[in-house]
Amino acid sequence: MRSNIAKRPALQRIEDFFEVAIGLSKSQAENEAKRCLQCKDPFCVKGCPVEIDIPAFIKLIGAGKQKEALEKIKERNNLPAICGRVCPQENQCEAACVLNKKKIPINIGALERYAADYKSKKTFSKVSGCFSATIKVAVVGSGPAGLTCAADLAKLGYQVVLFESLHLPGGVLVYGIPEFRLPKKIVQDEVDYIKSLGVKIQTDTLIGNTYSLTDLFSESYKAIFIAVGAGLPQFLGIRGENLARVYSANEFLTRVNLMKAYLFPAYATPINIGKKVAVIGAGNVAFDCARVARRLGSEAIIVYRRTEDEMPARIDEIDNAREEGVTFQLLTQPVGIIADEEGFVKGIECIKMRLGSPDASGRKKPIPIEGSNFILDVDTVIVGIGQSPNPLLSRLTPELKTNPDGTVIVNKNFMTSIPGIFAGGDIITGADTVISAMAAGKKAAVAIDKYIKRGMKDG
Ligand code: FAD
Ligand code: SF4
Repeated sequence: MRSNIAKRPALQRIEDFFEVAIGLSKSQAENEAKRCLQCKDPFCVKGCPVEIDIPAFIKLIGAGKQKEALEKIKERNNLPAICGRVCPQENQCEAACVLNKKKIPINIGALERYAADYKSKKTFSKVSGCFSATIKVAVVGSGPAGLTCAADLAKLGYQVVLFESLHLPGGVLVYGIPEFRLPKKIVQDEVDYIKSLGVKIQTDTLIGNTYSLTDLFSESYKAIFIAVGAGLPQFLGIRGENLARVYSANEFLTRVNLMKAYLFPAYATPINIGKKVAVIGAGNVAFDCARVARRLGSEAIIVYRRTEDEMPARIDEIDNAREEGVTFQLLTQPVGIIADEEGFVKGIECIKMRLGSPDASGRKKPIPIEGSNFILDVDTVIVGIGQSPNPLLSRLTPELKTNPDGTVIVNKNFMTSIPGIFAGGDIITGADTVISAMAAGKKAAVAIDKYIKRGMKDG
């Protein structure tokens, strides 16, 4: 039988922001590890974007060697405690596991988390060369793409400085994903590991503003990796989106997660939400907002224009939200937000939808049902329908070529239109996943190393 991760009871967890999932116990982890068939040609590895040697680390867990299992994972993945918690394994390594044919894949995510939660400061041998490095590389943005690229470049012997505009490193991992899914302490520990490789992190530094990309080359950086993510909120473009108590998911989550508004007034940033919150959208971002709203004491309704089958959020998170009392208003599209006399939200005008044939995304296209308009009584609206690439750096650097949707154009080696400047993560793909951003960071580190070495040979 597959060992599944236990969770705290829903009624208890909506009273606080502590982590929902409880890791596997030693015996659960070892039993689960022993289910692995140790396939000779393991499909799970091919299903993992950073190609962790999954059978090898699972075997070590089965043998009671948690520390060694973690070292094995760290050969390929610099952020395992994060990936073990938020990776969509069900669509990746676990989907590829041969046991998935019988719908009982190895719980690879839970085992990765188990190994990564090994508690010791002395787990890792230092990587030779990383403290004597003289060739400088700059990384811009400290989300999973930037952290991964910086760590791999440091392991290759470069002197890496990572610039971050916010006061804390981590990108979406700290400002977006809530504490109850990914505790800040876990992110901090992974960042500390990356610092221990010799990476210097300079926060409160907006590249494009504090320094331009040209300034960085003048400071003798030999290459630059741009990993500024997709943090620009998208709105619906309907009337009333400027009313009081309409938030973008980004603003709402940043206030609560990064600025700790749930601890106001002990922390300076407040959050003003009412008793009944509508969250528009059904991806991970929207579900995070709804579950945060529940923890702030409000009713939370997911408003989505398709059905549950088409929801892009992880299934586990949809189940967690339902257990926590989040309700769903499906096949519903907002057409306008309605104000009270003081300019606060008092409802949403919606129209009912039906599903037609699949659209470009492969999901069934929602079609409005004429004359089906109705009012949803809510006093707060959070728009969580997606994010676009951060436009600031490309706007301030006209030579950096972008697509019409704002994503930065790169070649197969992750190099942008400016020689020596590379890019990866959400800034080249649009909003995606932690592990795909990390995979881009890894590949870009290899390409940057080749680029610098080739330059040294030519020069
Ligand atoms: P980001 O994580 O966005 O990091 C970019 C960093 O660059 C930020 O720290 C930003 O402040 C900084 N920056 C921007 N401009 C500049 C500049 N000019 N100078 C210096 N620094 C700059 N994915 C999953 O796999 N599983 C999940 O469960 C999941 N949940 C999510 C929940 C939420 C609320 C959100 C918003 C996203 C979620 N994602 C999830 C998606 C995932 O977090 C992103 O795909 C991933 O973080 C992208 O990584 P990145 O490194 O490209 O960018
Ligand atoms: Fe183990 Fe599944 Fe990977 Fe085979 S595919 S090695 S059973 S985790």
